[in-house]
Amino acid sequence: MNDLRMSRYARQTLLPQIGPQGQERLRAARVALVGCGALGTAIADGLARAGVGFLRIIDWDVVELHNLQRQVLFDETDVAAGLPKAVAAANKLARINSEVRVEPVVADLAPRNAERLLDEVDLVVDGTDNFETRYLINDVCVKHRRPWVYGAVVATYGMTTTFLPGQTPCFRCMLAKKPAPGTTPTCDTVGVLGAAASVIASLEVVQALKVLTGQMEPDPPLVFVDVWEGVWEVLALRKGERRCPACDEGRLDFLTAREADRVVELCGEGAFQITPRGNGRIPLERLADRLGKVGEVFRNDYLLRARVAPYELTVFADGRVLVKGAADEAEARGIYAKYVGA
Ligand SMILES: [Zn+2]
Repeated sequence: MNDLRMSRYARQTLLPQIGPQGQERLRAARVALVGCGALGTAIADGLARAGVGFLRIIDWDVVELHNLQRQVLFDETDVAAGLPKAVAAANKLARINSEVRVEPVVADLAPRNAERLLDEVDLVVDGTDNFETRYLINDVCVKHRRPWVYGAVVATYGMTTTFLPGQTPCFRCMLAKKPAPGTTPTCDTVGVLGAAASVIASLEVVQALKVLTGQMEPDPPLVFVDVWEGVWEVLALRKGERRCPACDEGRLDFLTAREADRVVELCGEGAFQITPRGNGRIPLERLADRLGKVGEVFRNDYLLRARVAPYELTVFADGRVLVKGAADEAEARGIYAKYVGA
């Protein structure tokens, strides 16, 4: 390693836990980060500054003003430019550490792309905000024996652990049944304190550094933190009595799920994401011409946004559409069919 590179990491290589050898391992390491919101931006920032050589950042969303309260890689120019989070994060990280190779992927992690997007990495890190995606990450990581760091945050508290397939219980061991939609608090319904996300993200970064430098303990605990109440609990993760469908029986239900057009309600404010089945690339330029006749259209390299009162449609090149202003799923599907085409 040359002197210049060493000087960038001087304060980190002084630590006996890292040292020059650990730094070299980080440089050679490859990480996939799923989700680039409050947790994901802080995790990406931490891993890039620490010198992790390759980061694939997977996120489907666009930077909005209400993200800036806690999503540390973004600023007002990203909102004005309507940039996807993965792209805005990659731009910022390139200015922070040009030695790190960042691959932004503007997509929703789904059964059809999950194995490809989580392939050729040493570790997967969770920056998501939903159970569905975590079960999918778990299925891929169980199948390919890949370690992954789990993290979740809401309101003023959060939790995190690391799953080492073949060695520790898996996510499905920990949470055998997926909670029904609407039964758990989310950032969109109860809010989230930026500082709580920073703490959980920092703990995720530490676990990533341990895995990547070969220092993760064989039985990582589940850590729960409430930053407002000052509560910190460390719990042993134990395998339940029952056999786990995923890691004991190899039933990867979330990875093998047959995909229909997927409609997901977001934010609980009449916003829906519609993901068409299969590969449905949309020619944004032609669509912009068409929608320009009925409403106000904004377009950049990644997406098109059209205001067709009382709705707002955001169309991504990969075919996904966000519909805002619809009362329910059926109305969102109808708007999609009318303006984008089924
Ligand atoms: Zn399991």
